[in-house]
Amino acid sequence: MVSQTKTLIEARNAHNGRVDFTFEAAGAPDITKAVSELRVAQPAWAALTTSARAAVLGRWADAIEAMRVPIIEALAADTGRWYLSEAEVDGAAKNLRRWARMAPEILSETMQTEAQASVLIDTVRFQNQFVPYEVAGFISPWNFPITLSLIDAVPALAAGCAVIIKPSEVTSRFVAPLLETLKDIPELAGVVRFVLGDGGTGAALIEAVDMICFTGSVPTGRKVAEAAARRFIPASLELGGKDPVIVMASADLDRATDAVLRGAVLNAGQVCLSIERVYVDRAIYDEFVARLVAKARAVTLNTGDIQQGDMGPMIFVRQADVVAAHLADAVARGAKIECGGELVRAGGIWCPATVLTGVTHEMDIMREESFGPLIPVMAFDDINEAVRLANDTVFGLSGSVIAGTVAEALPVAAQINAGGISVNDCGLTSQTFEPEKTSFGLSGLGGSRMGPASIHRFLRKKAFIMQTGAPLKIGAFAERGGAGKSSKAA
Ligand code: NAD
Repeated sequence: MVSQTKTLIEARNAHNGRVDFTFEAAGAPDITKAVSELRVAQPAWAALTTSARAAVLGRWADAIEAMRVPIIEALAADTGRWYLSEAEVDGAAKNLRRWARMAPEILSETMQTEAQASVLIDTVRFQNQFVPYEVAGFISPWNFPITLSLIDAVPALAAGCAVIIKPSEVTSRFVAPLLETLKDIPELAGVVRFVLGDGGTGAALIEAVDMICFTGSVPTGRKVAEAAARRFIPASLELGGKDPVIVMASADLDRATDAVLRGAVLNAGQVCLSIERVYVDRAIYDEFVARLVAKARAVTLNTGDIQQGDMGPMIFVRQADVVAAHLADAVARGAKIECGGELVRAGGIWCPATVLTGVTHEMDIMREESFGPLIPVMAFDDINEAVRLANDTVFGLSGSVIAGTVAEALPVAAQINAGGISVNDCGLTSQTFEPEKTSFGLSGLGGSRMGPASIHRFLRKKAFIMQTGAPLKIGAFAERGGAGKSSKAA
């Protein structure tokens, strides 16, 4: 059924800059229809044992590997990068296998606990049942299109939910080849839907689902949280960051500059947990900057051949505009560009690895998310100043501390207000179990997407409370002055 509300959306090839992909946005009627179909299919999926669902997820991993090249090609067209597209597809299969292994370890086969005795009334026993939300919704951004579409949806499927996923309108080409992988897996085909569209489609999705997982920017995250709150549905939000790294005087300069460079320019800095602020002990500052600049100058762009070069283009034109604006603001306020700093327009738009010095916290580049390969470096004189600067932010996603030893770095890491702190490296939070960013700043809300907490987000606990003796009589409270252990005698 064609909805009245559909609009045409155009997408651009990030490598050659041509607008070469058009699709119709799903409207509210399409979403209502998809969600009601998911509600019909979900009970059979939830009724499978945890191991049976895990086995189906394992088959999906095999099918994705069989479709590896077409999915990579679709991702590469949208993102302009090849090697990270390969890594994304391989990572999607790994993520499925990891959850296929972990789900039966975390959840019981029957999704319920053993019956236990109540501590209040000894004839009463209770048993918890884990009930998956029927339909969970997922809205994802453009920086890792397939990874972030599936990262939360897979544990939701493992828990027994049906899922409906809206990837970013900037990078949704991968959906067509990915849907091919579901054709021979009927158990999954009934409980997985993708809807294409922009913010309007995302907003309509929130109105139809039982819980929502959102990955994206802080301003959109706020709209999502407000819409979910109006419906009283749970929202799990993974938002932006402005990650700091503190480099202490004892750090090995070669390792530290390797870690900071990779942490700041991987995927051209279009990573939520990218290093965006660097604080270095003044004792090693000059040498640190010299080595970092030398390494940053050696980072190559994939302007000609998409399969060559260290770094791909800016995926989204509007993000390139943000990067250019942050550079202009920093320079206007007195920052010095040590290397890079000029956007390269060759069909797509590239930003070279760019090191800046002379930066202050008055500049946008030290306060707002750049989401590009910009590396502003500041010197500090004592570690308290470094901690104060690192914590001078509205974000709290993650951060890093690099010192000569882990033991030296850890007490400093303990003072950083963020969900996950990498020690003696950068960007390790994607490897960890259960970092929570709920309590700090604007970087998110809800349980962790890593580890057992991730799957628990998709379950509500229902209790069966069973009376094995006679129920209390109405007079029992008055006679005994309280509930007490009375039902045996009653
Ligand atoms: P965005 O907020 O602009 O868009 C994200 C998604 O929200 C898109 O699919 C978009 O169509 C949808 N959307 C827009 N308006 C909506 C609305 N009113 N209701 C519902 N959905 C709506 O973010 P982006 O530019 O795609 O992604 C970049 C941002 O994502 C950065 O801030 C980055 O830090 C963040 N991010 C966070 C993580 C994390 O795990 N914390 C990971 C990757 C990216």
